[in-house]
Amino acid sequence: MTVETPFETDFRFDCPACDAVLRSEAVEELKRDGRRHLKDHDYQEVSAAFAETYSGTECENDCGYVYPVVEDETSGFGCPNCGFDHRHEFARRYLYWHIETI
Ligand SMILES: [Zn+2]
Ligand SMILES: [Zn+2]
Repeated sequence: MTVETPFETDFRFDCPACDAVLRSEAVEELKRDGRRHLKDHDYQEVSAAFAETYSGTECENDCGYVYPVVEDETSGFGCPNCGFDHRHEFARRYLYWHIETI
């Protein structure tokens, strides 16, 4: 049981991959904590979300590689063609999608 004591300008990250709820008065701080949380706790889930989001779309590095439409999880965030690592960018977006202002 938790006691809810929201500040007036409070940001909240309701983790879609587990039960964790992070909150902070500063959005930058929340993003940093959120990225760390995803990396430490939800790597598999974020990796699966990445595979789903990028299936059929091009590498962000414009190398021309198109991610195949896959049913199962990929082996990571790197582009198999140019090696570009999408993890940082994807984790950032993933956080944006789930951060709310209270
Ligand atoms: Zn989580
Ligand atoms: Zn690439």
